[in-house]
Formats: sequence, structure tokens, C-alpha cells
Amino acid sequence: MAAPGENLRINPDRLWDSLMEMAKIGPGIAGGNNRQTLTDADGEGRHLFKRWCDAAGLKTGIDKMGTMFARREGTDPDALPVYVGSHLDTQPTGGKYDGVLGVLGGLEVIRTLNDLGIKTKHPIVVTNWTNEEGARFAPAMLASGVFAGVHTLDYAYLRTDPDGKIFGDELKRIGWVGDEEVGARKMHAYFEYHIEQGPILEAENKQIGVVTHGQGLWWLEFTLTGKEAHTGSTPMNMRVNAGLAMARIFEMVQKVAMDNQPGAVGGVGQVKFSPNSRNVLPGTVVFTVDIRSPEQAKLDRMRAAVEAEAPRIAKELGVGCSVEAVGHFDPVTFDPTLVARVRAAAEKLGYSHMNIISGAGHDACWTARVAPSTMVMCPCVDGLSHNEAEDISKEWAAAGCDVLFHAVAETAEIVE
Ligand SMILES: [Zn+2]
Repeated sequence: MAAPGENLRINPDRLWDSLMEMAKIGPGIAGGNNRQTLTDADGEGRHLFKRWCDAAGLKTGIDKMGTMFARREGTDPDALPVYVGSHLDTQPTGGKYDGVLGVLGGLEVIRTLNDLGIKTKHPIVVTNWTNEEGARFAPAMLASGVFAGVHTLDYAYLRTDPDGKIFGDELKRIGWVGDEEVGARKMHAYFEYHIEQGPILEAENKQIGVVTHGQGLWWLEFTLTGKEAHTGSTPMNMRVNAGLAMARIFEMVQKVAMDNQPGAVGGVGQVKFSPNSRNVLPGTVVFTVDIRSPEQAKLDRMRAAVEAEAPRIAKELGVGCSVEAVGHFDPVTFDPTLVARVRAAAEKLGYSHMNIISGAGHDACWTARVAPSTMVMCPCVDGLSHNEAEDISKEWAAAGCDVLFHAVAETAEIVE
């Protein structure tokens, strides 16, 4: 297996210019992007990407989920392709780099191979997965989920957005329904380059995150039932206060996560207070506890603790408590051989690096079910993402792409 010479680098200016060019499509209101999946802007972004792929001599296939696969041929017709990709769709108030860096980074890998006249044994396929974000059509990572057999195509086609528009109709409307069966492609390996979306690499002053695991998660939806009552005229000893039970449960979730350090997080991002009136004690409170860990045993232990403690806390206050699991991902262990190759590439190129766990979900978490997969991460300013102010430097983008280039080229096996 041949690896590229250590002096070889991608073209930082070309990568950066492509990122800036793509960011002009579907501009946000505060300097970022609103290029949500299956909107006209998404269609326009796809056309731009396709034009770049055509210019690089790639042949683009599209599957029935609208996922784009741009292929550079290898020298061995029987060798399975190495895939490299991410997503071009964004949050409604998204940044310029979340996902886009992975797709255009993959394209830059190919442009660099073309510049250098390097042939590989395995084909290389740059991929743009449809609807990674899940902001318009839940759930997130929808197309890669169908690809990996997690969801059926029918399930995906019937997802609706907040306006009642249907995924399958919208995919047709923007003209990107392909003819390929979803998941028919077999992968030699899958690489995804992504901004960290957290503050660790910047705080540790590292250029490269070597991603070893993806976190598993549980979303536990609690419904607390108290008694609606006047906040002024109800004596303290006669209250059945669902809001107070909620507050105590939040403290408990914090403690469970702290008791399981390191490698565990827990919190609440969504609360519905009912009736949500200034002078009424809530009769009902519904909230979702989000707990995550890269270790299955720890994740299960945390769930058990939260589910045992919450009813006990509620009961002390006379509050009713029920719980339903409304979301789950298993933790992901990325392929050790590919992880080691990413680390070795960073080392060889002289870039500072550290192991990191992906705190967010990514398409690579689904492809890991059907192919050896891993990720490369670069820092982002203040760990900010899913925010129009999301920012990275050209140097960070280039360093991660250099590592991607070396790891992908080695896996695709350079032909001497
Ligand atoms: Zn992303």
C-alpha cells in the first residue's frame, strides 16, 4: 500500500475560495447560511457542486434519496471505492462550514490528486448526503440512515416539514431524485471531515481531532403532573408543584452526568410549561432529558439512574411522573485501522493532534454500520456551530484537509 509523499499538500486557497463561493448560495441574515435541505437554495448548491465535479472529471451518480456520489476512477475495476463526504445542507441559521467543509474538502482531495497526476487503485467518491441537518425534515442524518438500513425509503419520503410539505414531493420538486437504489453501493472505507462543533481542540491548541468514537444518546421525555393553582392564594403546604419537581429533576440529571465523568453529558434543552402563565402553578410540565456517552454501559447506567430517581423526586412532592424514550443512538466506535491512519497522517505532516469524541451525530455514524468509517476534525472558534457566527481559519481548514488527503490517498492505494 503506497502513501503520498509527506511534502504533498492540498491547495488552501482553492479550498477556501470554494467554501466562500458555496456560502454565497442561501445566505443567512447574519453572515452565515440558510440552505436547508430540498429548498431552492439546496438545489442551487447541488448544481454548483456538480459543475465543480464535472470540471474535475468526475462522474456523478444520484440515489433515490437525492444523495450525490461523484466518482474518480481507480486503476482496478474490481476495487471498492473509498468514500469521502458530508453534507451541503445547513440549519436555518447555520454556518458556512458545518458539513460543507467535508464535501468541498473531499473535492479538494480529488483536485489535488488530479493536479499531481496521482492514480489510485481504488476509485474515490465524493458524497453529498441529503438532509443531514434534520432541521426541516426530522430526523437528522436521514439519507445516510436509509443508506445504512436504519430507516426505510418510504419512511424518509413521508417526513413532513413544519409547513406540511412532504420530503418525497420536495425532493422531486427540486429535481434531484436519482435512479440508484439507496444503499446499493458498497464501500471500501468512508471518511468524513468536519468542524468540531465544540470548544476542545481550540482550548487544547490542537490542529487536528482524531475521532475515535461517536457518542450514543438517549432522549427521555418526562411528563410531570401537578395541580394548576393560583401562585398567590395557594399556601405553600397545599401546592402540588410540577415546576418544582422539574427543577429538582434537572439537578439530579446534572449529578448523574457528573457522577459518570469523564465521558458523559446530560441536560435538558426543551421544556413545555402548561399553562405557562405568570400567576399559575403549572399543572403539567413536559421536558426532554438528553444524556450521552461514547460507552454503551455508561449510557445505560445513566438512563437507569435518571429513570429510577425522577419518579422518586416527583413522588415526594405528590407530583405524577411518566417517562417515554423518544430518541436513541448507540455509541459508535470508528474503525481502528482508519483512525490510526488519520493519526499517522497528522503526525507525518507535523500537525498537532489529539483523540476526540464526536459530541454530535454525523453521517459517518450511520455509514459505520455498513463500512469501515472514521472522521477528521478541525477546531472552530469558541466551539460555536449551528450558528451563523460559526467560524474557522483558512489554516485550520487546510491542515485538516491535508490530513484527509493523506489518509484517503493511502486507503485508496496510490499506484506507482
Ligand atoms: Zn454537520
